[in-house]
Amino acid sequence: MNTEYDVIIIGGGPAALAAAVYTCRALLKTVILEKKFLGGQLVATELIENYPGFPDVISGFDLTQRMESQAKRFGVEIRYEEVSKLSVENGLKIVTTDTDVYSSHIVILASGADPKKLGVPGEAEFYGRGGSYCATCDGAFYRDKNVVVVGGGDSAITEGIFLTKYAHTVQLVHRREEFRATKIYLDEAFSNPKIKVILNTVIESIHGKEKVDGVVVQNIVSKEKKDIPCDGVFVFVGSTPNTGFLGNLLCVDAGCHIETNIHMETEIAGLYAVGDIRKNSYRQIATAIGDGVTAAIAAEHTLAELKASGKVRK
Ligand code: NAP
Repeated sequence: MNTEYDVIIIGGGPAALAAAVYTCRALLKTVILEKKFLGGQLVATELIENYPGFPDVISGFDLTQRMESQAKRFGVEIRYEEVSKLSVENGLKIVTTDTDVYSSHIVILASGADPKKLGVPGEAEFYGRGGSYCATCDGAFYRDKNVVVVGGGDSAITEGIFLTKYAHTVQLVHRREEFRATKIYLDEAFSNPKIKVILNTVIESIHGKEKVDGVVVQNIVSKEKKDIPCDGVFVFVGSTPNTGFLGNLLCVDAGCHIETNIHMETEIAGLYAVGDIRKNSYRQIATAIGDGVTAAIAAEHTLAELKASGKVRK
């Protein structure tokens, strides 16, 4: 198998698919290496109403399919392999996956982020048995049931609103009194009779027998503890970038984000970082797309310079 490419993109979310459209249209041989499924966190987002061009709500699944078919139309190769290592030898990037080794002078890191865990007793044990990080995937199992949603950002609020399509009640547990979420979403949630908001409260543990049957919470002001009976717990407390496979290759901040310049280039020439793994990203679909396009155009210029200087075969 020929594993030499002009551009290797690690990850298959919106930033990656947007980058691929541009690199493929620039006639650069491009491969996307994705460990699970295309779309990343976008696939798990039910209601998208702030992505320009879609005045009616579109689901993350539908938007991903459109992006995938657009990238494929221009010839991107997509391989479902997990990247375990990235190294650099004289400017050449070597990408090792579970099945192959790839090389290129240009690599775009678009490996996204995974849901952050609460780290409380019962969370790992009841994952898939009442514990979830994805309302789109699991919401339909909670028809007429009572669920707890944890978090105070846009994800918790929008996914909580989505869950009211199925659930009897949604108890929204947030650790502070102020929310990070956008006002338009908060107004919608607060006026929804199925949503009950519980503030200044943290989850202490998740419990049940075969499946979740409740959570123990503590009010951080009064210190009072109580049990909230429920059938499901949906956790939306942010995300952690997937940068583990980089080892010590790049400096990452305390939250594992990668610093780039305005061209999305990291401290290593020809290595770009886009989307949720990038430091200071606004973590929107539209900004991820912008990152991907910026990196693709910059990469095209870099590759042209390398070819002109004879460092890379034409
Ligand atoms: P986020 O904005 O980082 O919010 C995470 C929330 O979880 C915060 O309210 C935080 O509380 C809480 N939290 C964090 N760790 C916690 C813990 N250990 N225990 C309890 N609560 C904890 O994450 P997000 O909601 O996933 O949003 C991420 C980005 O995606 C944002 O930029 C957001 O705007 C964007 N997004 C946009 C949309 C949309 O526009 N449709 C939808 C989803 C997400 P504190 O506030 O106290 O820190």
